[in-house]
Amino acid sequence: MDGRYNDISATVEADRAHVWHHLFQHAVLDKRDPRILVEGKGMTVWDQTGRDYLDAVSGGVWTVNVGYGRESIANAVRDQLVKINYFAGSAGTIPAAQFAQRLTEKTPGLSRVFYANSGSEANEKAFKMVRQIAHKHHGGRKWKILYRERDYHGTSMGALAACGQEQRQEQYGPFPAGFIAVPHCLEYRKQWDVENYGERAADAIEDVILREGPDTVGALCLEPVTAGGGVITPPAGYWERVQEICRKYDILLHIDEVVCGMGRTGAWFGYQNYGIKPDFVTCAKGVASGYAAISCLITTEGVFDRFRTDPDDPMSYFRDISTFGGCTAGPAAALENMRIIEDEGLLENTRKMGVVLMEGLHDLMEKHAIVGDVRGKGLFCGLELVADRATKEPLAEALVERIVGLCDAEGVLIGKTSRSFYGFNNTLCLSPALIVGPSEMTRILDTLDAALTKATH
Ligand code: PMP
Repeated sequence: MDGRYNDISATVEADRAHVWHHLFQHAVLDKRDPRILVEGKGMTVWDQTGRDYLDAVSGGVWTVNVGYGRESIANAVRDQLVKINYFAGSAGTIPAAQFAQRLTEKTPGLSRVFYANSGSEANEKAFKMVRQIAHKHHGGRKWKILYRERDYHGTSMGALAACGQEQRQEQYGPFPAGFIAVPHCLEYRKQWDVENYGERAADAIEDVILREGPDTVGALCLEPVTAGGGVITPPAGYWERVQEICRKYDILLHIDEVVCGMGRTGAWFGYQNYGIKPDFVTCAKGVASGYAAISCLITTEGVFDRFRTDPDDPMSYFRDISTFGGCTAGPAAALENMRIIEDEGLLENTRKMGVVLMEGLHDLMEKHAIVGDVRGKGLFCGLELVADRATKEPLAEALVERIVGLCDAEGVLIGKTSRSFYGFNNTLCLSPALIVGPSEMTRILDTLDAALTKATH
């Protein structure tokens, strides 16, 4: 990085005085300066002091899948914006049409794309479609939406009503009615002592459906791999059974791919690892890798057909808009982002480097008693830390923070997941960009190894 950022103290003070950071306790800044990032290239970011960090969490929250500093994306956005930046409602635009086509080529069985700006919004669209289908086609029944403990679907009130992390809901209720929790499927924290854990965890969903009444349940919304709730990969047999249950009770299956979508797990979408046939897929973060704000709800022609205008009911179309869903920066960036993933073989790299990451994390588990479990898929992995392997008591939050801080001090940014329902942030998260190479992976793993040692001695 050149020296031109060395004197940005006024900006640092502006940040301290006026910016309200996301998910952040500002009291921390009584003791230190805010960190301002000024540049990024590949997997490296630089702060206002010129320090560099290797980013092992793709922009903090698993977003920058193709890495920083992609001029071709910036150029594609620029070229599009000077042609036409925006139109919404009654007319479409070229990149919106092209990206919808390209995206649905990657999601066989799904054929319609509804654009929005954030993951929360895309999920809200799906929830609203389910409600409208209930009103229009089921006499008002089938209005309930099931979500799973530990899953997260966003920050708006509907999405938060569907949040399986109770700590995120605390202090923000009351919430809209009709969102019902089903049990989580994390085998490490067993709820049933059975051989076929995956099927049993899925059967627990059926139990909830039967309790609520199948004719009241419209949809089931699940993350393919639970992200912020602890990087939870589904146990064998889980998804097959979930799919069967949805078919049996005519329940729409909504897969939230906000994190897993666009290659994170080594497939275009996380659900494709498990042979699922969803009715709704929502995606956001990796769609344009953070170069523009875009999210998509992708659905079937069958769902779409239910909203065709009925001559007896001209208001029965989907009466929903996100103003900036008409901004062309999003699909222009997304088209180029997709081209990069294809041309640079990033799905292959994700699968290959995902194996290296998983092996490295298993080595750490052998070496460090505080690593209770290692989970993940592709370049999306978590280590659940425990004070005692036998009792699985979660590691104290302060120690988890210390490990994250020790890595930071060595110039490697790692993450930790949100408070889980038993009250601790005890899962570390590693989700490097899909471009990660062997030397960067070695540095991430070595730094984590040293931090785990230092924190516990
Ligand atoms: N779904 C999942 C699985 C997420 O992890 C998130 C955000 N972390 C969201 C939805 C919400 O996305 P956004 O913050 O873009 O609204």
